[in-house]
Amino acid sequence: MKTIPDALFGIIGYPVSHSISPAMQNAAFKYCKLNYLYLTVAAKPEDLQNVIASMRPLNIRGLNVTIPHKIEVIKYIDVLDPAAKKIGAVNTIVNENGALKGYNTDFGGFVRLLEHNRIAPAKHRFALLGAGGSAHAIALAICTLGGRLTVLARQEEKAKDLASKMCLRFNGKAQGLELNDTNLEEVLAETDIIVNCTPVGMGNLAGQSLVPARFLRPDLTVIDAIYNPCKTRLLKEAENKGAKIINGLEMLVWQGAMSFEIWTSQKAPFRVMMKEAELALDENEK
Ligand code: NAP
Repeated sequence: MKTIPDALFGIIGYPVSHSISPAMQNAAFKYCKLNYLYLTVAAKPEDLQNVIASMRPLNIRGLNVTIPHKIEVIKYIDVLDPAAKKIGAVNTIVNENGALKGYNTDFGGFVRLLEHNRIAPAKHRFALLGAGGSAHAIALAICTLGGRLTVLARQEEKAKDLASKMCLRFNGKAQGLELNDTNLEEVLAETDIIVNCTPVGMGNLAGQSLVPARFLRPDLTVIDAIYNPCKTRLLKEAENKGAKIINGLEMLVWQGAMSFEIWTSQKAPFRVMMKEAELALDENEK
């Protein structure tokens, strides 16, 4: 076993210590007999440009990008994959001999989560909470597949901006509103599926929920992009009301598998990655 890796990868975010991507990606490299190493890179917004630029001199082959950098990072990328350009957010970077290319695998990860749970978006009305990087990918997935969408964000202009981008592309099937209880109550009365794309429910916001429990019903499906904890307060309260609940783990593993394939040009060992992700979560919850 060589001690010096042949290539370095990582995940950049803030906070990022909760991430189980290192466990999942390192297990995939090991399974595929690749002498690669995947690390965690905690970078505040003010350090983002320098950290991304350091991929070239440090010869970092690839990075995943997570909260809160997925939109801002586009400024520092040399070439954007057409899908990432359409989404307006990047979660995967490849360093091709000094040229940084940006991709988005959250879109594909969310589509696989819908397929696996037999959700056909064209039949449903979605309420998306948040208008950040993952919300951009998820909004595009919902609208591409024909779903009706309301984006609710604490900054009204961000919700309206994301919704209007979707309207331009998909004939007005999206609206954007400020995230407050009055709007939530009105929108959720006409909603089949809630998707939380904010960090509320994890890290220092664990135990909090953006949706008052009184708005939840048994006929709702509630998806939380958060996977750690595996049941956020929103999911627990939805489950107590008899709603169907889905956490972000499947989406995470699918997006990670797609990133692996972009970096290595090899088929990702999905089951190995899922098993390792579950083990890492169990470990975190101890
Ligand atoms: P992001 O780009 O930073 O966007 C976060 C969004 O949440 C923004 O709209 C932000 O509003 C909003 N927000 C933050 N704190 C809030 C609060 N206290 N109350 C209301 N809204 C708040 O982050 P992201 O990359 O989209 O990630 C969002 C969440 O999804 C994270 O928990 C992340 O772990 C999860 N995620 C999971 C997967 C997966 O594969 N399962 C993939 C991607 C993301 P402002 O713009 O006003 O700050």
